[in-house]
Amino acid sequence: MSDKTPRPQLAHLTAQLEDLRQRGTHFKLRVLDDEQAPVCTYDGKRVINLASNNYLGLCNHPKLREAAIAATKKYGVGSGAVRTIAGTMHIHMELEEKIAAFKGVEACVVFQSGFTANAGTVSSILGKEDFILSDELNHASIIDGARLSRAKIKVFRHKDIAHAEDLLKEIQHEPGRKLLITDGVFSMDGDIGPVDKLCDLADQYGAIMMVDDAHASGVLGRNGRGSVDHFHCTQRVDVQVGTLSKAIGALGGYVCGSRDLIDYLYHRARPFLFSTSHPPSVAATCIAAFDLLEIEPERIQRLWDNTNYFKQQLTAAGFDTGGRTTPASETPITPILIGDGRATMDFSRSLFQAGLMATGIAFPTVPEGKARIRTIMTSEHTREQIDQALEILITVARKMNILPA
Ligand SMILES: *Cc1c(COP(=O)(O)O)cnc(C)c1O
Repeated sequence: MSDKTPRPQLAHLTAQLEDLRQRGTHFKLRVLDDEQAPVCTYDGKRVINLASNNYLGLCNHPKLREAAIAATKKYGVGSGAVRTIAGTMHIHMELEEKIAAFKGVEACVVFQSGFTANAGTVSSILGKEDFILSDELNHASIIDGARLSRAKIKVFRHKDIAHAEDLLKEIQHEPGRKLLITDGVFSMDGDIGPVDKLCDLADQYGAIMMVDDAHASGVLGRNGRGSVDHFHCTQRVDVQVGTLSKAIGALGGYVCGSRDLIDYLYHRARPFLFSTSHPPSVAATCIAAFDLLEIEPERIQRLWDNTNYFKQQLTAAGFDTGGRTTPASETPITPILIGDGRATMDFSRSLFQAGLMATGIAFPTVPEGKARIRTIMTSEHTREQIDQALEILITVARKMNILPA
């Protein structure tokens, strides 16, 4: 058989890709030629970048670079094993202690990513007799963890406390444990989860309270301690998840809580047990990043100043930033709602051609009919760059009839 004869085994995948092309939502990966920065080069094109999660510009901060290089020189490039066998280095323990102290909790465990932190935790702390009450817009890693746990999953309408309570009432006499779970900041809409009100429900119904703070880590709360700190709920949230991959600038996820929670996860969380720990450079980078949150809080202030300015200008220009059907964004994530998937992807491509990187997001990442451009501000964008981004957005939107000409 020649190499070019297609094998039929995966023909169903080819058919689905063709379907995506027909819908106009098939994409090619954009490749970054230089560093993750407010202005950078993708596929040879220089663009203002409103697409990264590099909230505080830490992806290439000189101190973090140095920390990574020093750790590599001292300890090598890999840990050589999973944490429970031979791959726990002092630097891994140091990072966990640092995060626990920063968050004001007893203990912390670091996972390979925020995704594995969520999936590994939700799936291991519950069993099939138990119940998970989850916001409909919670992150995919929570959904996967919930499915892996085999617990019964009840989904409440986005941020709808009354609906969450109805669901809790329905099962309050069932023997299983109940877990209430929300994102601290919702990644597609940029709104903040009602952590305080969900804590009230959790207390009232004896449910375990869990918050996924991936987009709130380094962004909300004192020195970026997250949404749980923002709502003064540290003592009322049993399981706090955060990421080291977004504002912290490197890679990883963590779970914070009681000493027993963390010890249990050391013994039962499958990504911890069955997947190799971070290279020492990653742990060293993250330690340096938490130091920076304490000594350079002005980065967070700049992030919010930029965010407020950009949002205000977007709204003034007449863009739909999601305030009508869903709560308006309250964080550096600002969606520009378009609706139709194809129109959104076309808009995103035209923006790119005009010099602005802003990702189009369509079904299945967001519901059908709610396709959008998602923008994320960082502390490192200058006012000139933001103004230029706004000019490109407005010009292209007028040309495409997204804004009145
Ligand atoms: C990005 C994200 C994650 C995953 O974090 P990674 O560290 O990138 O794996 C989990 N939850 C939410 C809400 C996220 O936005």
